[in-house]
Amino acid sequence: MDLSPCTSGHKTASVAVTAPIDKLLDYAIPASLSSFVHIGTRVKVPLGRRMVWGFVLSVSTEEREELKPIAEVPEDSPFFPPHLAAFYQRAAAYYHHPPGEVLRTALPAGITGKVQRVGVVHEKKYHALDVADQPKGARQQEILSWLRGRKEAFGSEVGAVFPSPTPVLKRLVEMGLVGEEEVERRRDPFFDLPVDPDLRPSATEDQGQALASLQQALAGEVFAGFLLHGVTGSGKTEVYLKVIAAALEAGRRALVLVPEIALTPQLVARFRARFKSSEHSIAVLHSGLSEGERYDAWRAIARGEVHIVIGARSAVFAPLDRLGVIVVDEEHEASYKQAEGFRYNARDLALMRGQMEKAVVILGSATPSLVSYHRSREGFLHYLRLHHRVLGRPLPEVELVDLAGRSLEGSLSQEMLDALESNLQAGNQSLLLLNRRGFAPYLLCRECGAAFHCPNCAITLTYYQSRRLMRCNYCDYAVTPPVACPECGGGQIEPEGAGTERLEEELAVCFPEARIARMDRDTMTRKGAHQALVSEMEQRRVDILVGTQMVAKGLDFPGVTLVGVVGADAILNLPDFRSAERAFTLLTQVAGRAGRGERPGKVLIQTYAPAHHALQHASRHDYDGFYREEIEYRRALEYPPFGHLVNLVLSGIEGEKVAEAAGRLCDSLQACAGAEVEVLGPAPCPLFRLRGRTRYQILLKSALRTPLHRLLARLPALRSAVPRTLKLTLDVDPLDML
Ligand code: ADP
Ligand code: ZN
Repeated sequence: MDLSPCTSGHKTASVAVTAPIDKLLDYAIPASLSSFVHIGTRVKVPLGRRMVWGFVLSVSTEEREELKPIAEVPEDSPFFPPHLAAFYQRAAAYYHHPPGEVLRTALPAGITGKVQRVGVVHEKKYHALDVADQPKGARQQEILSWLRGRKEAFGSEVGAVFPSPTPVLKRLVEMGLVGEEEVERRRDPFFDLPVDPDLRPSATEDQGQALASLQQALAGEVFAGFLLHGVTGSGKTEVYLKVIAAALEAGRRALVLVPEIALTPQLVARFRARFKSSEHSIAVLHSGLSEGERYDAWRAIARGEVHIVIGARSAVFAPLDRLGVIVVDEEHEASYKQAEGFRYNARDLALMRGQMEKAVVILGSATPSLVSYHRSREGFLHYLRLHHRVLGRPLPEVELVDLAGRSLEGSLSQEMLDALESNLQAGNQSLLLLNRRGFAPYLLCRECGAAFHCPNCAITLTYYQSRRLMRCNYCDYAVTPPVACPECGGGQIEPEGAGTERLEEELAVCFPEARIARMDRDTMTRKGAHQALVSEMEQRRVDILVGTQMVAKGLDFPGVTLVGVVGADAILNLPDFRSAERAFTLLTQVAGRAGRGERPGKVLIQTYAPAHHALQHASRHDYDGFYREEIEYRRALEYPPFGHLVNLVLSGIEGEKVAEAAGRLCDSLQACAGAEVEVLGPAPCPLFRLRGRTRYQILLKSALRTPLHRLLARLPALRSAVPRTLKLTLDVDPLDML
């Protein structure tokens, strides 16, 4: 902390206040506070008759009489280094979002309120004592030999492997075979994960070439963007680790973005293992942190104590100084785009930030987004390719199972059942993807064909058999299914189609001896549940894992040799110009989960449309072929990467008012759009009603960004004609237009 008097004599601060205001506001810096007010300082300032929080984005020596003074400065050091002020402002300008709201999103939640401290948590930790005796009970033996295999384990870690182990552990302690102690437990769920020994392999030829380019750019201290394209298992993570080591060596810092931190425990563990012995400290920003912990982590980064930050999309705003490398792993993932409020894309902001801080930015993926791949072809990104899986492991063979004209008993074809059976016989693990939660997508009256819709959203209610409930997957509305059809009074109401819950049940009937588990948003709600299931899979306590797209993400199970895709068509048929890209990506990613160990893998994809180009190219692992075909559709329709999009959504309770206002807004946009911007709509959104609101969209499209931004700059004026009861959201570079 710098307590020396402020010699520069700053008199005015420009502040981003946490309110929906499009520009910075100027405040006078009182002499008593002048040594505490810097760029990045949090301040309390008057706004109208309220007091609000804000962040100082610039200071000047100009003195202006009419300004209101800053009221309070709670911390004595800034929240971010000065150069980040420009980045936050540029992000605000690009997405046409109020700068104060951008900062509210960027900084740890709770910072604009009172920060709570969290209490220390204690937990029992167990270790096997140095006695050779064997207990009698089978469970006792099992747990003891597991404990003997590791040095020590927390109760919760034992619990992740063995169901309710506490009584057994207690007995083992009484028998003098196990010792226990009460210790303080860090709340960081990743901190105590067992870390596998770090192998530090020497680079393969492909890795060596990629590293040479990356290190050259790093040494030049200029911005350079790279696309690192390599199939799953080709050694991308190893490249990140090595280039980050080089950056740290040069006294610089690294930022690693991952799609969802809870789903990438293996990556975090590898970073820990690699950098554990060095002096370098890693901060993992994840949703499991309490507000207090997040605040502490942020402050530690701002003080320069952290060398590597790993986190999901919001970590792109982390207050690191002297950035050398930014990694965006699985850059194709839609979760880099925030879907609400400040709708930024962390991948794009990573490139913007890298440019401003002269850092190396690596976008890594087995299936790059079409946009990134196109950028690399146009020369905006350097293209690095890892051609093969490490150790020459072959990619799995993919077979398309044509369902056309067949009537299946359940969801599984004979081919799929046979493959599962023989995989089970061989003692291997299988993974099944069905991208639908619940028991069935809807309940249907067999007599009149009536289905049940959510009263708030234009969507059918998903049926959950285990809880006898129909629930909306968008707004969580839930009801018990009726006994008789409300339309015709008929009593034959049955589930139609299948979700993961039903598939799990079907498998249990077909393979009664198999150990089956399910991974989806419904089973993974409990904290630590995902981690527990991952370690069960790793220890081969599961034979068949059923799940939604979650199973396609970032996991590496060497025992999986069969991957089955149960319904490829549901993925292909979304009303979105990116549906083919999504399907190709998801299928290629899930296929990549097969055969990562010593035994080769096999993939079966059930579909009604085996000729679809996304399926054809996915079955041949042919990214380039898919790109060449798909890019022509985009070019013809001027969709990204050839055109830039902005989606405006107008919503409200009264449908007619929304339609009318959308029409008027569209007319006025058209009037000032000019020839370079196309104004499309208004049209009802595909999800016409959502959470009780009717929604219309207006799509702006242009081959160039500048005219789009010019038009958006006029939006605040045009928006004043929209009734205040309606909500207008603005999405620059939208991903999801449902
Ligand atoms: P990706 O991130 O592309 O999926 P990884 O970096 O996870 O690939 O590598 C896949 C596996 O191969 C990992 O188990 C990793 O430890 C191992 N590996 C990576 N690079 C090498 C190498 N040069 N030599 C030997 N093994 C390697
Ligand atoms: Zn709903």
